Amino acid sequence: MNIHEYQAKELLAKFGVPVPAGFAAMSVEEAVEASKKLPGPLYVVKAQIHAGGRGKGKFKELPAEAKGGVRLAKTEDEVRHAATEMLGNTLVTIQTGAAGKQVNRLYVTDGVDIAKEFYLALLVDRATGRVAFVVSTEGGMDIETVAHDTPEKIHTFDVDPATGFMPHHGRAVANALGLEGDLAKQAQSLAGKVYDAFLGTDASQIEINPLAVTDDNKLLVLDAKVGFDSNSLFRHKDLLELRDETEEDPMELEASKYDLAYIKLDGDIGCMVNGAGLAMATMDIIKLNGMFPANFLDVGGGANKEKVTAAFKIILSDPAVKGILVNIFGGIMRCDIIAEGIVAAAKEVNLAVPLVVRLEGTNVQQGKDILANSGLPIVAANDLGDAAQKIVAEVKKVA
Ligand code: GDP
Ligand code: MG
Repeated sequence: MNIHEYQAKELLAKFGVPVPAGFAAMSVEEAVEASKKLPGPLYVVKAQIHAGGRGKGKFKELPAEAKGGVRLAKTEDEVRHAATEMLGNTLVTIQTGAAGKQVNRLYVTDGVDIAKEFYLALLVDRATGRVAFVVSTEGGMDIETVAHDTPEKIHTFDVDPATGFMPHHGRAVANALGLEGDLAKQAQSLAGKVYDAFLGTDASQIEINPLAVTDDNKLLVLDAKVGFDSNSLFRHKDLLELRDETEEDPMELEASKYDLAYIKLDGDIGCMVNGAGLAMATMDIIKLNGMFPANFLDVGGGANKEKVTAAFKIILSDPAVKGILVNIFGGIMRCDIIAEGIVAAAKEVNLAVPLVVRLEGTNVQQGKDILANSGLPIVAANDLGDAAQKIVAEVKKVA
């Protein structure tokens, strides 16, 4: 789960990380009111969407020369103008895709004079299984570009969970940023607090870009992107309240309501499978047969009729789907129950694309009989290879 910049900064501030003062705003008036509470003379009006690259982004509804989603303002009128141009309009950045994202919230912050911009991120390094720091002097720009053009300017190191954050980690951050004296001390302290925030919230990512050195030699977080491990959210009820469902893919959101693990992909074959491993194998074998999966969908071990119906509806609401492959292993769940669920769901959603079903496991024969006697044009398959060949053949027949 991801959150907005203003929420991320409020969270980091609770852990003692220095951030500029600021207020979220849902309307132009609220934005102007927010600026009145700030000291001035510089304000920053920032579009709140779950995507980076806002500063260099473009609004679809505005002329090409209009400014992006991060604007400096010096007067109340400039704040009003920026807020008016942004709210309700669609911001396209390198991270949003061509469709862009509608801006429904703003963040109005105290503007600072920047001397230098750095990059600091914490994430889980899958190779070492540890929390890792990624630090670079090249802040304010796209870190992927830095990684590509000047990889030597990115420093990474991980933290041993047995010791936790140690003073030498803080020194490593300061050194990587070329800081000395008081600024080095600030960097050490900030790094420790960001680490505390990471562990304390079960974050999966905290990306600070830029981490700014101000004209008066203060380290300040000017932009922060925070994501949490969804599997840990049950123990962070307060964080769940930060969820903004309007930022999520509508189909993935619907799937999450039924506890279905669904991820939209680019292909033509909708997949409904139980178990992540079987889902991966199913996707692979579809590709082996020359087509591509339209989604990853794991209905889980305890799939019932309601879940199967929801899964069908989600798959079919994707206009790209030209055929569906159901691949279920009846272990805990019996095949006859699954077959009943599939038949009921297929009738309810008025299935208009080919459907191939491969069932295996407990009561498989009863399950196959139910499918065969359903009166629906369901193609039964005997094994995984057979199922993939059949769905590809069926889709090609229709095309
Ligand atoms: P992003 O484009 O989505 O990454 O949004 P950021 O919050 O990182 O803002 C983009 C750029 O705007 C930053 O890299 C800064 O150069 C600039 N910026 C953000 N806040 C301030 C500020 O308080 N003062 C000044 N002068 N520039 C700022
Ligand atoms: Mg940024």
